[in-house]
Amino acid sequence: MLNANFEPINVCTTRRAIGLMLGGKAAMVANGRGYIRTVKELIPRPSVIRLDVQIHRPRPRVKLTRREVFRRDNYTCQYCGRRDGGLTVDHVIPRHLGGPHTWTNVVAACPSCNHHKGGRRLEEAHMNLHHVPKEPPANAAYIFGRHLAENEEWSQYIKGW
Ligand SMILES: [Zn+2]
Repeated sequence: MLNANFEPINVCTTRRAIGLMLGGKAAMVANGRGYIRTVKELIPRPSVIRLDVQIHRPRPRVKLTRREVFRRDNYTCQYCGRRDGGLTVDHVIPRHLGGPHTWTNVVAACPSCNHHKGGRRLEEAHMNLHHVPKEPPANAAYIFGRHLAENEEWSQYIKGW
């Protein structure tokens, strides 16, 4: 879904996109998904729609979820560099010691590193991070990047935002 100024704002379901189009709130920009047949007509299944009226919203941020932590950390344990699956989210300063649940205090960790670290601080566990954890960039390429493999036609609308 694009804002009226073509800024990409979110990913919605086909159902919602068609609802917005039929409600006169959005127009189709690209039809990448064929058609839906109703009793009366054939409705295009849009892959990109654009709102008719610009909506104002705060600067986008990447939501702090397990999936996004793993993606930011390139699916790699930030302590030992392992990539072979089974990642967990580790709080660098443990929560029971007041560590916050924020981008700068969470990292991807393999189960054995997480277990070894236990409820300790880095210094106590004699462990080091490969990268200092930061909030990921909130540009459109990062936010929507994980959809691009399956939706190549979106890329031209994401560039530059
Ligand atoms: Zn590890």
